[in-house]
Amino acid sequence: MISNKQLFLLNNAQTSTTPKMLEIERAEGIYLYDTNGKAYIDLVSGFAVSNIGHRHPRVLAAIQDQLNKYLHVTVYGEYVQTPMVKFAEKLVSVLPSSLNNVYFVNSGAEATEGALKLAKRYTGRSKIISCKNSYHGSTHGALSVMGNEEFKQKYRPLLPDVSFIHFNREADLEQITTETACVIMETLQGEAGIRVADLHYMQKLRQRCDETGTLLILDEIQAAFGRTGKLFAFEHYGIVPDVLLLAKALGGGMPIGAFIADKKVMGLLAENPILGHITTFGGHPVSCAAGLAGLEVVLEEQLVLPVFEKEALFRDLLVHPKIKEIRGMGLMLGMQLDSFQQVEKVSQLCSEEGLVIDWFLHCETAMRIAPPLVITEAEIRKVCKVILNALDQLT
Ligand code: PLP
Repeated sequence: MISNKQLFLLNNAQTSTTPKMLEIERAEGIYLYDTNGKAYIDLVSGFAVSNIGHRHPRVLAAIQDQLNKYLHVTVYGEYVQTPMVKFAEKLVSVLPSSLNNVYFVNSGAEATEGALKLAKRYTGRSKIISCKNSYHGSTHGALSVMGNEEFKQKYRPLLPDVSFIHFNREADLEQITTETACVIMETLQGEAGIRVADLHYMQKLRQRCDETGTLLILDEIQAAFGRTGKLFAFEHYGIVPDVLLLAKALGGGMPIGAFIADKKVMGLLAENPILGHITTFGGHPVSCAAGLAGLEVVLEEQLVLPVFEKEALFRDLLVHPKIKEIRGMGLMLGMQLDSFQQVEKVSQLCSEEGLVIDWFLHCETAMRIAPPLVITEAEIRKVCKVILNALDQLT
């Protein structure tokens, strides 16, 4: 009989010639279980999605409750759907007052698309500034603002009027002018291998955008919901973006994205012409119900505060001659090694020992340390032991 793995390679579109091929039967908390019953600690969190752990009971209950009511009923923005209303209300309540209007979409890339369109609409300008090594999604607009030529070159022509500055280089902020519609930036760069901006740089960025009437779009698709030790990463910098992008952990494990702005900005999408952004499934009621439950878990179970202690423990334990640097904030960390060969080998050895670990799109020489925030001290010790043993086996 043909196996699922064979069928996967046969009938499912592939994104690389070397997929991981782990066949997951179920997931719970910080654990993934394969079809042989082998348990793996998830150090990737489905790429920053499972902040509250896999299948949190409150999320499952909220999904079940919504399943008993309705699934899809209409396109985004027409009917009053309670899960969407309640979720937006909760999100707005934990955000600064200028981020008071939520446009729910399906994914991170769609949130990027919506925000770029909104910036053009609001400013009447077309120039966009992004950062080298950035990642904002894989659709055409999002690809246009991706700071890595290798992934873009086969898709040109992309959006015109996009230029790239160096992340964290203050002198480059001069390139933001009164012709710039928006700057789109990750609050800390994820796929670049986790790069943290300086406080002064972020404050200058905010100031320069204010001076030039440019919208500041901060992409926290990977960084939000406690991952960096604050509910939102921009809180580390004492600044507030004009538009905030969310996805990944937003849905508590279900697919959803959002771009959030002030109502006076967002309101422009509703008239002249109407339907400034159209999405059928955006803000799906099941995803919104799950997302609301997930956010309540983050807040009520106080998952954010202990993140700093957990980061400190990782940093204390992950000391090894092969580790060049640990970068990042909270549980959004990058462990820098010397080569991709080392990264691949460590990943393989960790997998054998029941630990799922990965690298980064734009930085294949560093490893991603991004477990669900619920990981315990004992589990961190276990994880670090496995990683250190793997590093010991490198030649
Ligand atoms: N922005 C950032 C910072 C991301 O890390 C990602 C996904 O990895 C995206 C945007 C795109 O999100 P999605 O894959 O949901 O389109």
